[in-house]
Amino acid sequence: MIRKLLLLAAGNVRLEKLVSRSRLTSGLVSRYVAGTTLDDVIAVSRSLHAKGIDVSLDLLGETVGDLRESAAATAAYVETIHAIADRAPGGTVSVKLSQLGVGLDQSVCAGHLKQLLEVAEECGVTVEVDMEHSSVGPQTLEIYRTFLPSFPRTRVAQQAAMRRCPEDLGSFTDVKPRIRLVKGAFLEPIEKALQEREEITAQYRYLASWALANLPDPAFGTHDDVCIDHVRAEADRLGVDRRDFEFQMLYGVRRDLQERLAAEGYRVRVYVPFGGQWYPYLMRRMAERPANLLLFLRSLLGG
Ligand SMILES: Cc1cc2nc3c(=O)[nH]c(=O)nc-3n(C[C@H](O)[C@H](O)[C@H](O)COP(=O)(O)OP(=O)(O)OC[C@H]3O[C@@H](n4cnc5c(N)ncnc54)[C@H](O)[C@@H]3O)c2cc1C
Repeated sequence: MIRKLLLLAAGNVRLEKLVSRSRLTSGLVSRYVAGTTLDDVIAVSRSLHAKGIDVSLDLLGETVGDLRESAAATAAYVETIHAIADRAPGGTVSVKLSQLGVGLDQSVCAGHLKQLLEVAEECGVTVEVDMEHSSVGPQTLEIYRTFLPSFPRTRVAQQAAMRRCPEDLGSFTDVKPRIRLVKGAFLEPIEKALQEREEITAQYRYLASWALANLPDPAFGTHDDVCIDHVRAEADRLGVDRRDFEFQMLYGVRRDLQERLAAEGYRVRVYVPFGGQWYPYLMRRMAERPANLLLFLRSLLGG
């Protein structure tokens, strides 16, 4: 119930204006967001790198209102890719196709992604494509599929909660995708997505085993001990080396675990968001942990 309310609030423009203008949420925002500028996020990336942890940089911002905004977001991502190449070795960039205009014009969006893939390849940086709400999910996967043969290192997120996820994964035949398996952060109807926590975790475990056995260099985007322990045990059972897959976690979540896994020799990558448009991202993080609601309300009330 609380999760649903917070996810509904994530899409509410009025609330976004109210919360974004409030100075009181700044403490909470800084827990999950690395700063507003490229310099801020590069500084965070470098300190994580010193601990043996890689990053994936996410320029905050989602659905754009017009194609000029999507072109501006693409230009900002080009700048981010150059900064990663110059100053954040090992970093990747995570892009949301809604920000590149997938909801407005699929072919323009594909053109923007192509530009990013080409720049990234020249710079030796990998692009990761986030998976968003089901209103743009199938289009996102279709565009990813178009570019996979030419840019096979590109990673795409797959949401275990989505009922179509196993079918989507099985549909790649010629070139196998590099995926980031996540549970799924969006409010989805029961026809499209599993709703119960236990069901989603079970599906995550099943797909994690399948990915370890069948896909190149899978990434597991989760903070859930049950899922992480499962991945570790399955990798051992299947003889997959610790360096042949990676754990991914969000900036600000379970830092101790990130460091512990890296110290044990696992590859760890932290998804680090930056920029001013943090509201929907923050609300999804609040929805993931009921205790966060209290933190959020307290910060809004200034307590
Ligand atoms: C690197 C990465 C990339 C992602 N990319 C996408 C994407 O492209 N598309 C998409 O739909 N979703 C994405 N997600 C979000 C994902 O779908 C889940 O919503 C999120 O990871 C929470 O699920 P969990 O597996 O961590 O398990 P949960 O069961 O939600 O959490 C397990 C434990 O982790 C801790 N925890 C989890 N979330 C938080 C939080 N916000 N604050 C504090 N503690 C927390 C708590 O201790 C909790 O008990 C991504 C997640 C990660 C880690």
